[in-house]
Amino acid sequence: MDAEVIVIGAGIVGAACAYELSQRGLQVLVIDDGPSGATPAGMGHLVVMDDNPAELALSSASLAIWRSWLARMDSGCGYSHCGTLWIAADDEELQAAADKQTRLQAAGIGCALIQPQALAALEPALRSGLAGALQVGSDGVVYAPNAARWLLGQSGNDTGHLKNAGSISVLHAQVRALDDGRVYLSDGSARSAPHIVLAAGLRASALCPEVPLQAKKGHLAISARYPGMVRHQLVELGYVKSAHECSGTSVAFNVQPRLTGQLLIGSSRQFDSTDSAIELPILARMLRRASDYLPGLGALQIIRSWTGFRAATPDGLPLIGPHPQRCGLWLALGHEGLGVTTATGTAQLIAAGICASASALDGSAYLPARWLQSV
Ligand SMILES: Cc1cc2nc3c(=O)[nH]c(=O)nc-3n(C[C@H](O)[C@H](O)[C@H](O)COP(=O)(O)OP(=O)(O)OC[C@H]3O[C@@H](n4cnc5c(N)ncnc54)[C@H](O)[C@@H]3O)c2cc1C
Repeated sequence: MDAEVIVIGAGIVGAACAYELSQRGLQVLVIDDGPSGATPAGMGHLVVMDDNPAELALSSASLAIWRSWLARMDSGCGYSHCGTLWIAADDEELQAAADKQTRLQAAGIGCALIQPQALAALEPALRSGLAGALQVGSDGVVYAPNAARWLLGQSGNDTGHLKNAGSISVLHAQVRALDDGRVYLSDGSARSAPHIVLAAGLRASALCPEVPLQAKKGHLAISARYPGMVRHQLVELGYVKSAHECSGTSVAFNVQPRLTGQLLIGSSRQFDSTDSAIELPILARMLRRASDYLPGLGALQIIRSWTGFRAATPDGLPLIGPHPQRCGLWLALGHEGLGVTTATGTAQLIAAGICASASALDGSAYLPARWLQSV
């Protein structure tokens, strides 16, 4: 036995699972051939999403866990408590903002409708004529690749209630196959553990072909430093619609102020591409959309753009829990565009499952058996 748990994947989900398991006193071996995957390519917006009750429960519980972890994290993790402004362009979107406020408040999440004049004072760079916004103050931003590195660098429990300190060791290697309790590496060696957590993102399909994952390509761009130009994560309310489309290409205004003073500009979604190349027409469409809301954007220097792939499931909810047919295999997959946010709740559910302990979060909506039972 090489560990009590093997985690395949050191993106934000695998790293969070390893951290939570080690906090419970387990010896964890993380295997990754990266850095690659969605974590270094994403935005790191920690955001409560409420398109359905299961998404709201997971994202809001996850944010609470993030807040408890962030208190211990180092400054490299780039956490900022900037909150989100959901921008309403017209009266219809203002109504959508009010409906969202009702749902969030019912879940105990503080938020406030912002009138146009107050919005202009909060974010002077936004264009005039907007109908208002919904401000969600508890949302934030993290620099996910560094947060993952920080999580993997922690061993044992740092809260002091467990007697047995757990550990995390990281092996840089490619997993080429899995069977019960064993992973086979591309150098011909194998590692074994009673529990294996598959947190390999989109590439999990190569190891477990029955998982229903589909790539959703996204473009992002980052500016030079313009400190103070934008103060909150700014997202158009139309984002929710584009985020849940099931085909084609969509873009939405989504801009994030980084602690460096840079603006991270998104976002696009494409179903019809698995090519990581930047597609200039889509990048241009995305930047035009952002300029519609932030007219000064055209004068900024964009220093880099890139693409990444979100791993989407057919129902938009992640797969978290035991594989119903493969003994000892746990899935932590399919987090789509919300995996940085929901990594913490995922880790809590996986650790509670492996340790057979209770979890404050009800994980039944995310169980892989909803898609894998008839395989
Ligand atoms: C453009 C874009 C914007 C996004 N914005 C946000 C956002 O604002 N907020 C948010 O919450 N989420 C966002 N996301 C989603 C988020 O980034 C992902 O859901 C999350 O990073 C997934 O993390 P993961 O650990 O599951 O997978 P990954 O980050 O893909 O990590 C998987 C790891 O497994 C390793 N691996 C895979 N196969 C093997 C193998 N066979 N052997 C060894 N190692 C292997 C890979 O090298 C990789 O390191 C965004 C994503 C994109 C693409």
